Amino acid sequence: MEDSKKTLAIVLNRQDYREYDSLVSFYTLEFGKLTLMARGTKRLKSKLAGHLEPISVVDLMIIPGKGRDYAAGAISQEVFSGIKADLNKLYYAGLGLRWFRRLTSENEPDKTLFFLVFEYLNILDKYHLDDVSDELPKDDGELLFSFFAFKFLTEMGYKPEMENCLACQQKITPGKNYFNLQNGGLICETCFLANKGGIGRELLTISDNCVKVLRFMLENGLNLSQKLKIDKKLIKELATLTKGFLNFRT
Ligand SMILES: [Zn+2]
Repeated sequence: MEDSKKTLAIVLNRQDYREYDSLVSFYTLEFGKLTLMARGTKRLKSKLAGHLEPISVVDLMIIPGKGRDYAAGAISQEVFSGIKADLNKLYYAGLGLRWFRRLTSENEPDKTLFFLVFEYLNILDKYHLDDVSDELPKDDGELLFSFFAFKFLTEMGYKPEMENCLACQQKITPGKNYFNLQNGGLICETCFLANKGGIGRELLTISDNCVKVLRFMLENGLNLSQKLKIDKKLIKELATLTKGFLNFRT
């Protein structure tokens, strides 16, 4: 077809639209996030529907529409069956894609982001479990999700400052420190006590170990997530900080 375009795409989400159609949200390699109309996907004989399942990678054909463009064809390249067979993996895949979809803008391609999402799904899909009958441990899921969240936020320009205090620029030393969720970075105790570091719910206390984990995440690829061995208390602290940091981006 003349005006059609092709690209590799990650299916982020699909919702019903009108009687037989769907609106499908993709993160495409060439064009960034796109929300496209898919016709007839709710009809029983729809071939397209089977290829437009969220949490999959497809070769996508796009044709222009009057209002919205159409997903005219899709062929599955990766369906991540390991994720779909494990409810915990599915939960963390969904959580990652939901936040990613919420914080990215349409028509802003970024190949690094595309491959980061692809890698996140791949790691979850192939996550090594000691016993094949086990589900992904929730703590491992939280840790990987935090890692992914900080990586994609960094790529989007929200890299947190983890070396110097945001207020006085002094190097952060171990001890009592804070994290400013609004501005993204550390605040030293002196600035906190002088009310220079931020107010109220913008601030969380942060332990020295949590500072170390965040530095590790910012300096290393997602593929090293399984090298991090951290205890439950620290995972909880990291999860709270991650959710707070994400919430302040909306
Ligand atoms: Zn300071």
